[in-house]
Amino acid sequence: MAPIAVTPLSPPSPTLDNTSKLTKAGAETILSKTISNGSPAVADLDASKLIFTRNLSPKNVVAPNSPEVWSQNYTSDHMLTVRWTEQSGWEAPEIRPYGPLSLMPTASVFHYATECFEGMKAYRGFDGKVRLFRPERNARRFLQSATRIALPGFPPEEFLKLLKKFVGVEAPKWVSEPGQFIYLRPTMIATAPAIGIQRPREALLYVMMVMMPSLGDPSAVPPSVTASAGTGSGQAPEAKRLAAAGMRLLASRHDMIRAWPGGFGSAKVGANYGPTLVAQGEARARGYDQILWLFGDECFVTEAGGSNFFVLWKTAQGRTELITAPLGDGVILEGVTRASVLDLVRRTRPDVDVVERKFTMHEIVQAADQGRLIEAFGAGTAFFISPCSDIHFRGVDVSLPLAKGVTADFARAIRQALKDIMYGSQQHEWGVVVEEEKI
Ligand SMILES: *Cc1c(COP(=O)(O)O)cnc(C)c1O
Repeated sequence: MAPIAVTPLSPPSPTLDNTSKLTKAGAETILSKTISNGSPAVADLDASKLIFTRNLSPKNVVAPNSPEVWSQNYTSDHMLTVRWTEQSGWEAPEIRPYGPLSLMPTASVFHYATECFEGMKAYRGFDGKVRLFRPERNARRFLQSATRIALPGFPPEEFLKLLKKFVGVEAPKWVSEPGQFIYLRPTMIATAPAIGIQRPREALLYVMMVMMPSLGDPSAVPPSVTASAGTGSGQAPEAKRLAAAGMRLLASRHDMIRAWPGGFGSAKVGANYGPTLVAQGEARARGYDQILWLFGDECFVTEAGGSNFFVLWKTAQGRTELITAPLGDGVILEGVTRASVLDLVRRTRPDVDVVERKFTMHEIVQAADQGRLIEAFGAGTAFFISPCSDIHFRGVDVSLPLAKGVTADFARAIRQALKDIMYGSQQHEWGVVVEEEKI
């Protein structure tokens, strides 16, 4: 008699044993266990099942510098949603009119921060094509963030197919002009209505598109602000200063840290952000743009707000060095922009040593005192490459040459090289063209 095939009743749940150190190997283990759950009863994410429901009350596209754009709340006509349940897995993905979600007050996300997200942009190139920038990295990181907080796994390449479909549908209307971009916010939340603390039994993956000003880009400053600083919407004067004079950073206080080894600072989860808003508010009130997050009694420099942080300096031996905090202990987020800056400088600037190691605020102060500090900048999708002019560190003011009017040529060159790829002025594998659809 032939042996009977045994179908497991429920997928084996990923164990956390190997991930406690948050090593790469640990993450790989949990990912492979989550993806290959093996049960035919549970559907995997499948882009070919996509359902499209057109928005019959479409909005107007607004001008790049309009108040609606500065509100950062002006979305495109549609959103992408996919429901997941423990019993049936991923349901058919949908592109449908953008609108409110309906969730029970007991939903896990409202109580236990079971939320993760991504931040990306779709760019309309000067060759007319729409591109995403290294989107496979975002898809993979989205998966890593989700599994870190017990949200369901998915094949990242299926997610990427869905994302491209969504961009393909919205781009003709919402990113129509060469040089324009729109911000994409993939999100996943646990939706199961149950107050008990447990692994989520239901989840929702959704993606929206938001029109955004190019913060930190001089060409994107609203005309009203250029004419008279202090008028216009809330963020505009800051944007003007950011663009013209550089980002001002306030180093975090000794009694507030963003992330710690073995924590979740390397996952893009909402839980990393809520607790930083008190410090962020204090920074704004004191005339700074972002908090520069330090770690430990040594005052290790980690990252700045939602951006990774780089310093360009001369070493005591006279070498030019680009330095940024290392990955590995889980304290910083592995930015796509960070990886791209490192790659680009390593390939194109043999005159610059590129170093990923722990470094301290005291080293920055000393370099400044000895006239070795050249530039510092934040690197991330939202603020792109933002040169820094000042850092306030517990009573000490560190001025970068930018504060005295020396242009940040290094950061500018990186910004231009990346822009050329994003907007198709340079053909590069990092710029992934999206096929557009007439709807
Ligand atoms: C998103 C994010 C970054 C930047 O990542 P990119 O992939 O370059 O956009 C850096 N730090 C934190 C904490 C972030 O959330």
